[in-house]
Amino acid sequence: MISKNDLEYIRADFSDIDKEYRNIEKEIWGLEELPIVKKYIELQAKKNALATKRKNLYGLMKYGEYENCNHLWGISMDEYGEYDYVCVKCGLNYKSLRLTNRGKEDSLSFDERVMASVLKGQSFVNDADINLVCDKDLAMALYKKIKEHHPDIDDKTAVKYLEIALEDIRNIEVSEKRKKNRAKRLGLRHDFNRWK
Ligand SMILES: [Zn+2]
Repeated sequence: MISKNDLEYIRADFSDIDKEYRNIEKEIWGLEELPIVKKYIELQAKKNALATKRKNLYGLMKYGEYENCNHLWGISMDEYGEYDYVCVKCGLNYKSLRLTNRGKEDSLSFDERVMASVLKGQSFVNDADINLVCDKDLAMALYKKIKEHHPDIDDKTAVKYLEIALEDIRNIEVSEKRKKNRAKRLGLRHDFNRWK
């Protein structure tokens, strides 16, 4: 219960804050009359309208890309410590569907929601093309590099190169500095450390 005495203090505080609030509001209204600010508000409104369209189109585009990819499946361990099929070409993976089926859709990113909706319509993959378990980002980066050097490579050969590259990474011990350089060359995060 707020005492009458306290209520007086609260009223006085409110009155002070309210005055300041209204003054700032008036000042903002004044600024909104300036041509440059008018322009700013107009651009913000346009930007917001475009953002929605852009997001919808991005979702459609990704959906189409996932659907049209001739997937090359590898196996990776996700951040929850669960094995997951991952396409090294487009990044499509089953974590999104697994979490959706467990009612954890809220934890998915926009891209992962798109993935889940693509996978819902497809039969489950139960055979990997790549015979090594490997971090998703690393596998995708290696595939991308192989594709850069051999644009016309077929999937089977690409898999062979990828497996060799992965085995070299695992068997040949290098210094931390060289690991950092390798991550940089592959376009991985500077602190990437999931080589094994
Ligand atoms: Zn794919």
